Amino acid sequence: MTAVQLRGAPIAKRLKDEVLASAEVLRQRGGLQPTLATLLVGGNPSAEAYRRSIERSLGSVGIIHRARTLPETTSDSDLIAEVQSLNGDPAVNGVLILMPLPEHLSPHLIIEHLSPLKDVDGITPTNAGRLHLGIPSLRPSTPQGGIEILDHYEINLVGQQAVVVGRSNVVGRPLSTLLTLRDATVTVCHRKTRDLASVTRQADIVAVAAGHPGLIRGDMIRDGAIVIDFGVNVVDGVIVGDVDPASVASVAAAYTPVPGGTGPVTTLVLARNTIAAGFAALGGSLDHVELATVTGRAQP
Ligand code: ADP
Repeated sequence: MTAVQLRGAPIAKRLKDEVLASAEVLRQRGGLQPTLATLLVGGNPSAEAYRRSIERSLGSVGIIHRARTLPETTSDSDLIAEVQSLNGDPAVNGVLILMPLPEHLSPHLIIEHLSPLKDVDGITPTNAGRLHLGIPSLRPSTPQGGIEILDHYEINLVGQQAVVVGRSNVVGRPLSTLLTLRDATVTVCHRKTRDLASVTRQADIVAVAAGHPGLIRGDMIRDGAIVIDFGVNVVDGVIVGDVDPASVASVAAAYTPVPGGTGPVTTLVLARNTIAAGFAALGGSLDHVELATVTGRAQP
């Protein structure tokens, strides 16, 4: 079997159209020009690369990007003050804090201080809790993008055995919730999982966000599985995922390539979340985020 590549480009195109249309509705209702602020502390190269791709995607849909860089020596209280100033700035719809933060900072403190209405990557306890409860929320862009890909290629989730490799707060954990909300049967694996291959071999759908190049090989999946790769690793100057594409392609039914799979979708989901945050600001509640899907599609 030679697997089909699940490319992100068609979904990115659809999301672009959707964002442009919902931005127009937001404007008609009196919203300001949508603006996303990104906050980078120091100069982590992967955070800088992610910011450049955010810049490109936002530019393609007319969202203003306010890039703010703070020095490596920034303290927790300096960063909290910056976040609070963005919380109070009515011209800013969304705030994204680029990760990883320098070691001396405490991510949980920042998460506590960001306004949930501007939390475009769904990292605050309010949005994470609302996602867990299955009520409208701003959802982390990367796992939501994975769901958009599965939906676009009409991959059935109901009753399917899904294995998520990775349990980070921005990818693995929220993805497991999203898949559960869509009626998949979900197993979450992590660094301490015993015999990872024996678990992934049971899966109809394997989704990987472990930050570990080549972690998933063809002999670890069952014939005809669907493999979604969220890995972004730089190896010898080349971007590779967490999946070994050569061996997986001969066993899987379909897989997302890296680059060109989940990546292009993530930044456009972030753009849509910025518009969603604009609706939340107008309505004063996260219940209004659904208006960002002009089709009126409810979450999930
Ligand atoms: P990301 O932001 O891409 O999700 P993190 O570094 O925050 O990355 O999290 C990596 C996750 O991947 C952790 O939950 C960790 O337990 C999991 N992981 C890393 N290496 C392995 C491995 N070899 N097998 C299974 N899970 C792994």
